[in-house]
Amino acid sequence: MIVGSELHAWRAALLWFPDPAVAELRYCSDGLLVTGRDTHGLVRVVASGEYAQLAPQFTHLPLTWWPGLCIAPGFVDLHVHYPQTDVIASPAEGLLPWLEHYTFPHEKQFAGPEHACEVAGFFLQELLRNGVTTALCFATAHPESVDAFMTAAQARQLRMIVGKVLQDRFSPDGLRDTDTHKSLRQTEALIQRWHGVDRLGYAITPRFAPTSTPEQLQGAGELAAQFPEVWIQSHLAENVDEIRWVHELFPQARSYLDVYDRAGLLRKRAVYAHSIHLDDADRRRMAETGSVAAISPTSNLFLGSGFFDYAAADRAQLRYGLASDVGGGTSFSPFHTMHAAYTVARQNVGRPGLSLAPEHLWWQHTAGAAQALGLPGTVGNLLPGGEADFVVLNPQATPLLARRTAQAETLAEWLFAMIVLGDDRLIAHTVVQGQVALSAAVPEAGPTIGT
Ligand SMILES: [Zn+2]
Repeated sequence: MIVGSELHAWRAALLWFPDPAVAELRYCSDGLLVTGRDTHGLVRVVASGEYAQLAPQFTHLPLTWWPGLCIAPGFVDLHVHYPQTDVIASPAEGLLPWLEHYTFPHEKQFAGPEHACEVAGFFLQELLRNGVTTALCFATAHPESVDAFMTAAQARQLRMIVGKVLQDRFSPDGLRDTDTHKSLRQTEALIQRWHGVDRLGYAITPRFAPTSTPEQLQGAGELAAQFPEVWIQSHLAENVDEIRWVHELFPQARSYLDVYDRAGLLRKRAVYAHSIHLDDADRRRMAETGSVAAISPTSNLFLGSGFFDYAAADRAQLRYGLASDVGGGTSFSPFHTMHAAYTVARQNVGRPGLSLAPEHLWWQHTAGAAQALGLPGTVGNLLPGGEADFVVLNPQATPLLARRTAQAETLAEWLFAMIVLGDDRLIAHTVVQGQVALSAAVPEAGPTIGT
């Protein structure tokens, strides 16, 4: 990697994954991160590690020093709906009534570009406030909702992936694709307009099997074959009523997953939210095609959908990562999501409970999520060559956090205290492309600027 300009050094404690494929975090209490802009204009990590070892090589760089804080990889959210920002915290009796009463009426408003722009801006600020620097995101059925989101993400130099929702049946007027062929042409036009522009990516986005005709799913699969670098995202096996409906609508399919398989929608860069009620054949099929699961534990708890089976996924070598699933999910905070993932694994109904290690939970929301997205080494870590998006944690952000983290005797205990007690207040700064994009309103130590 050639790093040509704008070298900058950042000094604080440091957390990173030495091997992005392995859920083992390295911590140093006095670390140095050096970033610089490459010849393509992207700001990347040049070096990361112990301050004492690296500092002699980078003595004359501008330095930002955050004593008492900790630099860590930016979080990656594998599944979230930006148009549901205003649906968060809406009560309902399960998934299908929730869609009908809250989600669909809200999403209809995104036909208006002004509304879409306003919500996209708020949503991205909220992600940054919570330390999320990359997300795989649903828009709505309106192409304008994709344009609004991409424009807002591009202005903030973010690596974001989004797609127009495909839904040509069982959807209300104003949200339903009334012309299946046109919906697919709109998708193709959006891919050509946005995919690969700056740090933006496109995802082919059937809402879920019931709201697409077989023709629309087939067309989506054909686009997926035509554009192999583009992502695919949808929902899968979230809720038992939904699954019953899928079996009625697609009697020839062996399983819910098989509906997507028959349409050519299983491949690398295909991300399926929830993936709860699967059998082992489904899990193996996802693994062999390179499809991955986006685990959404706050949403699953809130809607009472069920629990992701970590042990079965590991046996099948099915890759996964964590997701907020806002607005079914109840928080933008990766700490709340990691905490819920821990809780869900402990509660495994009818199976032995698991205690997921804090390093593993953290990995699922950073380097592991990046790997699931097909972006290992690009985001979700701080190794040289990776893109310079990171968060700066303040473990003293609240009195209880300060007290509990001060008593941690191991790295695992320290991380776990932040997972269980943390929220947006833990994020002192979010840095995107080597620029502080957002800082917490509360005063805290630093930064100290010098050389
Ligand atoms: Zn969702």
